[in-house]
Amino acid sequence: MRIVLLGAPASGKGTQANELCRTFGVPKISTGDMLRAALAAGTPLGKEAERYMNAGQLVPDSVVIGLVEERTAEPDAASGFILDGFPRTVPQAQALGDLLVRKGTPLDAVIQIDVPRELLMERATLRRTDKRTGQIYHLKYNPPPPGAELEHRADDQEETVKKRLDQYDAMTAALLPYYQKLGLLKRVDGVGEPSEVTRRILAALGRQ
Ligand code: AMP
Repeated sequence: MRIVLLGAPASGKGTQANELCRTFGVPKISTGDMLRAALAAGTPLGKEAERYMNAGQLVPDSVVIGLVEERTAEPDAASGFILDGFPRTVPQAQALGDLLVRKGTPLDAVIQIDVPRELLMERATLRRTDKRTGQIYHLKYNPPPPGAELEHRADDQEETVKKRLDQYDAMTAALLPYYQKLGLLKRVDGVGEPSEVTRRILAALGRQ
């Protein structure tokens, strides 16, 4: 299974990516994770990427395409992968398509987890983390126990969330039509229990 997973911040994309990796026995390939690892290791690539990441900008296409090319050539990716955070631009999508056609292993699907903006805002802005345990709660849907030492992540503050959602919308404005034209795009309703959303994704992939 070679899948691209698209979803806004707080759409549940991370949870679904993990679930799909477990179900299909394939690795998750996240360019964000790879870039953070390169940055932490202080590699030349990490140093180049750092200024873009710190400025909240996209790292140049050639850099992330190179990373994905190397990672998809590793043995554990031979039977498939879940791409998370890549592609983010149409040139990246084209490069991915060319790469996979060269290997003779085209993409199976692009899954977009669809959640209304108001709900994304509510999920993110009411999210709280217990500083001591790292446990994540939601003030409305999964309230913390008394005595929890709650922290509101900077990422989850209203203005920041709005900005991240706008960035996601700007990114997908070109990507969604691109994949729609190729007949690869599958929109899945992301509202509901995580297990229910997984069931919908598997159904969209014809696996249930
Ligand atoms: P993420 O964890 O996916 O949000 O990625 C964190 C940061 O890494 C982004 O804000 C970008 O600076 C960079 N990045 C990750 N994936 C890509 C990509 N496909 N294209 C360009 N930059 C990326």
